Amino acid sequence: MSKLKLFLLIFLGTAILSQAQTEDGVLRMNEFRNPKKRQIIQIPNIDGFQTLKSDLHMHTVFSDGHVWPNVRVQEAWQEGLDVMSITDHIEYTPHSADVKVSHNRAWELAKDLATENNLVFIKGTEITRNTPPGHFNAIFIGDASDYIEDRANEKDKPAVMKAVEQNAFIFWNHPGWKVNSIEGSYEWIDFVDELKKENNLHGIEVFNGFGFHKKALDWAVDNNLAVMGTSDIHNLVVHDYNLGDYVHRTMTLVFAKERTAESVREALDAGRTVAWASKYIAGKEEHVRNLFNACVEFGASFHTKGERKYFEIRNYSDLYFELELESGNGTEKITLFPQTAQVVTAPADQKSLTYKVATAFIRSDKNLLVEFPLN
Ligand code: ZN
Repeated sequence: MSKLKLFLLIFLGTAILSQAQTEDGVLRMNEFRNPKKRQIIQIPNIDGFQTLKSDLHMHTVFSDGHVWPNVRVQEAWQEGLDVMSITDHIEYTPHSADVKVSHNRAWELAKDLATENNLVFIKGTEITRNTPPGHFNAIFIGDASDYIEDRANEKDKPAVMKAVEQNAFIFWNHPGWKVNSIEGSYEWIDFVDELKKENNLHGIEVFNGFGFHKKALDWAVDNNLAVMGTSDIHNLVVHDYNLGDYVHRTMTLVFAKERTAESVREALDAGRTVAWASKYIAGKEEHVRNLFNACVEFGASFHTKGERKYFEIRNYSDLYFELELESGNGTEKITLFPQTAQVVTAPADQKSLTYKVATAFIRSDKNLLVEFPLN
């Protein structure tokens, strides 16, 4: 290296260092900053509907959550949600000595940030009665200060009727919660049956955080209610979830005409949803099947060797699927991690293969069955 080159190198090096070390003498290590980036969750649209990723049950310090409302918006944006609702408890505000009780405040504090981040932000609350009947989420609500706060008194019905008066979308939360401590709570109770008959119950949580309330799936299917999956997150999402690979926060996939609050409401009322929690999806057969078919493609045979044919099955989505051979002679088990493919083989004379999608539920005891013709 010539002396001139060495001189230039030292000179430039010093110049670069002095740029970072601005007039105030502070070295700003911006590489440590999180560049603003939003994850894109790849799930295809189905049947001309947009597949919106929603979480419609979460908490802040305005009830028993641990975060300020804006943090919920930041998480939702970063984690690729399209739709969110903060649903703080009406009747349970354990931070009231430090945070003034106001049932509209979380909404007010978060709504501008949600709009600026292109999130569909729906006003909600959680009607928190003793179990049974337990908790109900009301979203698309009006003034939340109208709701009844006293859960010690037997005002379960009037409490829910406030949401009805406001034309809210009402869903029953985590029906199996406290099932072991309170006898009979995990049943299709009279209270819920009455709400349903009056058309005042519109959905049920099948996934709540890490819990799969299997019976709730049957109730939703049998009563034509929206199948819901929510995080019910109280802490930071990154604190509670082992995010990565196929783990996202629990959510509801909503098949909506447009990416607007009105369209979300229309889709929820029509029950066009699939609930998603880690490896699992659950919903009405029609929606689960359409979603699976939009995500997974079984290709034509690409190779024949003697008596065997070879096929490729591809998962174009961020969902995870495990398939177990149900009938036919071929590959026994297929694991489709997000955005991966597998090779499937079968005897050349095999006409089709039928698999049970072990990670896709259409009833508590029934999985989606899919048939692949072998061309
Ligand atoms: Zn909750």
